[in-house]
Formats: sequence, structure tokens, C-alpha cells
Amino acid sequence: MTEEQLSTTWKSVMHELELYFSPAIFQTWFKHSHLLALTPGKTEIGVENSFAIKFIKKFAEERLIATLSKEAGFPIKELIYTIQPRAKTSKKIVVVSGPALFTQEGSFEVPVAEMVPPEATHSYSHPQSQQESNLNPKYTFSSFIVGTRNRLAHAAALGVAEKPGQLYNPLYLYGGVGLGKTHLMQAVGNEIIRREPQKRVLYVSCENFTNEFVAGIRAGKQESFKKKYRNVDVFLVDDIQFMAGKDGIQEEFFHTFNALYQTDKQIIITSDKAPSDINDLEERLSSRFSMGMIADMQLPDLETRQAILLSKCQEKGVTLPNEVLAYIADQIETNIRELEGALTTVLLHIQATGTEPTVDLVQSALRNLISRKPLKKSGLEQIREVVCRFYDITPEDIIGQRRQKELVKPRQVLMYLLKNELRMTFPTIGREIGGRDHTTAMHGVEKIEKELKKSAELSDELQRIKELYYTGSR
Ligand code: ADP
Ligand code: MG
Repeated sequence: MTEEQLSTTWKSVMHELELYFSPAIFQTWFKHSHLLALTPGKTEIGVENSFAIKFIKKFAEERLIATLSKEAGFPIKELIYTIQPRAKTSKKIVVVSGPALFTQEGSFEVPVAEMVPPEATHSYSHPQSQQESNLNPKYTFSSFIVGTRNRLAHAAALGVAEKPGQLYNPLYLYGGVGLGKTHLMQAVGNEIIRREPQKRVLYVSCENFTNEFVAGIRAGKQESFKKKYRNVDVFLVDDIQFMAGKDGIQEEFFHTFNALYQTDKQIIITSDKAPSDINDLEERLSSRFSMGMIADMQLPDLETRQAILLSKCQEKGVTLPNEVLAYIADQIETNIRELEGALTTVLLHIQATGTEPTVDLVQSALRNLISRKPLKKSGLEQIREVVCRFYDITPEDIIGQRRQKELVKPRQVLMYLLKNELRMTFPTIGREIGGRDHTTAMHGVEKIEKELKKSAELSDELQRIKELYYTGSR
């Protein structure tokens, strides 16, 4: 195959894989990946670093092989990975989401985790305004299915899109992972731009807002940070819970909020919890979040889930019998992201086997997925699992007493995350991690905190672990 053919094949493989992972995960792990060889004897993939290999092997290899085989037209048994980090100069890459950071010299640099490889951006040809707004054009009202459990949120969002800044300000949407918060919030942004293209809409994840703020301080660029965020008509901030416990950014956000609110600019906020339930959030912020409209989003009922599946099938131009859709909708009770994943798995299975889509077939296609469905795991178990997977160690290792460096670090990372993400107390953390003393837990958390100030690598690792945890990647 020529280089061009390899690249075309890889593009369509990436297109399919994109359906399985959250944008954050997808961009983090598949950015810069490319196909180096594709023959019946050897399939080789170039990736950015060893973390990417680890991730792909654990979570994506099966799908990658299936999709590649389909594209290649011959069965592929194994994949060979080669690490090919890109030179720093290739950083000037199109940004689809996430703001740019200021570098010391004052030029723009794209934060690594936010960079999108050309492969992943080719399908986006949105107008300038959308690109500047960080919005994903696929999140629209027309692709959002309304059911009993998201009706209020949807109605409020529509109202805001029609009369930004006038009806509900701020609009605060909250609910669990994968239930459509980001979709709905961005639908408002996209709709406002459609109606009034001159309006400045800006979407940002709370993490990016924070990172950019910190980078701005470091580079002495607070003014341009302020100018950017205080000069918008519609400000969308996703996953505000990340602000918990971070005083500096809460302070900054408070002022941004006020500046916008006082001039009747629309603010939309999403979170996994109601304002009053976010621990370590300043009271003056949570009271401001409650000034407009608060709407929660829950898992849609069975009928709505089936309607969502039907609409996703229409988008893809495929037809499945109603009883098949009903079966999938009935089996997947976690969230809509999982529901979409299940549908894609089923479609791949049907394509691969070339058989009629029956409930039996779907049952076997989903067997893996369903048996792996978490049995209502606690946050602790989930975080522990993600940390173990990330560092490739077992749960026994992490709670055990062995003190090798390879175990101590993940253990301390786990302590840190339990403290910061789940707000556990030191005695509980100690107890949960192998019956240790609270001072051990305290020491572990402090160690990571200290290390984080020095090591960009560690902060990158933590970022990725959190992404895995919050996006519920399988
Ligand atoms: P959250 O931000 O709450 O974690 P997302 O907005 O990212 O969830 O939604 C996860 C996926 O589910 C997205 O692909 C989104 O398009 C889809 N989705 C969620 N709710 C709906 C809905 N009501 N109708 C259609 N698709 C939905
Ligand atoms: Mg979201």
C-alpha cells in the first residue's frame, strides 16, 4: 500500500473508532497515531507514547483489529506498535476543542492533550464562528431526543437559545456521566450562532478554563485571559465540579461570572451535582449558580432510549428491527454514551458476520459488553480500577504491603484521587487502601501534591486518569 492509501484507510478506521470513545479520550490516545503497514503478514501502527500503547491494547485493540480487518479485506491477527513521537514543531495543529495556552514568548501553543490530529478533524468544516466557539457542530437540538427525564432541561435550554440572557440566567444543568449535558449545552450554543451569527459564543471545559488561567498567570497574561472570557455573549462552562477545592479558580470564575451576569450575558453551567451538593465550592458561587434555573438530567426511560437508538440508526442510514432496538434499549441502563457504544458494537457485528439482525445475534454481540457492565460500583472501586489499569498493576498490588517504586507511586496517586475527587477523609483513605494509618494517607497525598508542582509528566498522567474515570471509558 502507498502512504496515501495507508492514510486513507487509517482515516476511515479512526472514523469508526471515534464512535466508541469520548472526544477527550479519543484525542488523547489516538492523536498522532497512524498506520505504518497493512499486509496480511504485518500490521503496524505508529503511536505517540507508551501510554497510548497501553491504552489501545487494553481498551481498543479488539475493535481496532475488527475495524482494520474490515477495511483491509483480510483478517488481521495481531498489531505491532511503534512509538513515533512527533517533533515539537508540529504542534501548530488545528484546534477543535479547548483553548490555546500562552507560552512564555507570548505566542500560542496548543496544550498537548487538546491537540487534534488532522485525521480527526477532516470531517469538521464548520464556519469560523463555530471554531472559535469550541462547539462541536454535531450537538444540535435536532439530534437531541426529548423524553420524560430530560424534558425540563430541554425546555429550559430551548428557552435560553431563543432569548439568551433574558429567561434563565444562569442555566445550570446537572446529572450523571453520559446523559447529554454537554450535548444539550452545546446545542444551545450552536442554535444561538445559527440564529444570530454575530453573537460570540464560547464553550470551555472547567479543566481547560483552569489550565488556561494558571498558564496565564505563569506567563503574566492575566489581562488577556480576562478579556477573552469577559467579552462573550454566551459563556458555556462544562463540568464545573472540577472547580471544587480550588480557591484561585473559584475566585477568578466568580469575577467572570459577575462581569457577564451584570451585563445580561447568558451563562450555562453543567455539573455532575446540584450546586449545593458540590463540596468545597464557595457559598457565594453556589448561591449564584442557583439564581437562574436548575434542571437535572436523568437516564431516559426505556421508550426514550429506544427512540434515541432509532434516531442514531437514521443518522447512520441503517435500519434495525424494532424488537432489536427494544432489546438493546432494555439491556443498556447506564447512560446514553454506553447506549451508542452498544449500537455501534451491534452494527459492527452484523457487518462482520453478514447475517440478519435478530435478537439472538444482538444478544451474542452484546454478551461481552453486558457481562462487563459494572455492578453499580462505588466511586472508590472505579477510581481504583482506573488507576490499576493505567499503571498496569492489580488491585491486590495497590492495596498490598509491598513497597516497590512501581507500586508506591500508583498507591499514592490513588490516595490523592480519593482525597481530591471523592473528598474522602485521610482515615478512610488509609483504611480503604490496605488498612493503613491516616498519616500514611496524608503523607501519600502530600507527596503527590509536591510532585505535581514539579512534574508536568505526572500532571499529565493524572489528567489522563481523571479522563478515564470521568468519561467512564470501557
Ligand atoms: P454528558 O455531558 O452528560 O456526560 P454527553 O452530552 O457527552 O453526556 O452525551 C453522551 C452521548 O450521548 C453523546 O454522544 C450525546 O450525543 C448522546 N446523547 C445524550 N443524550 C441524548 C439525547 N437525549 N438524544 C440523543 N443523543 C443523546
Ligand atoms: Mg459532558
